[in-house]
Amino acid sequence: MRSNLEGGCHCGAVRLCIVGGLGENAKAGICHCKDCQTFAGSLFAYAGKVDRAALQVVQGQPKAYKQPTSTNLSGKQVTRHFCGDCGTPLWVESDATPTIYAVKLALFGNAFEPGIEIFWKNAHEWEKPLAPSEMVFDTLPAMPPTGS
Ligand SMILES: [Zn+2]
Ligand SMILES: [Zn+2]
Repeated sequence: MRSNLEGGCHCGAVRLCIVGGLGENAKAGICHCKDCQTFAGSLFAYAGKVDRAALQVVQGQPKAYKQPTSTNLSGKQVTRHFCGDCGTPLWVESDATPTIYAVKLALFGNAFEPGIEIFWKNAHEWEKPLAPSEMVFDTLPAMPPTGS
């Protein structure tokens, strides 16, 4: 039985639990797409794949922002969940991946080594990949590794 992972937003209004954690050898994913840059307020998004059934909201009521489908790369609905009080991004729900969520790992201490980077084409020439070079993709690989 793997132990649960608990974390929350900056103001403490929202607490999340990943039941069973991310797994012994779980790796993080980094996305350099323009949307992820904007929503992260940073160079890239850093997230882990979590089975939807394993993510529980322990406390609080996260807000949700549904991206207009015309704005996202898959053309599928993408909903971004965040704390309405402090604005901390929490997790991303994409209809392109109906069984998993991409959960923001800063909530859980940024403790996972990056295993894959996608949309590297949007990175600046002064950025350096954090994942192994064979796992850095200019767009989205046809068969993304599960990473866990
Ligand atoms: Zn908050
Ligand atoms: Zn992205």
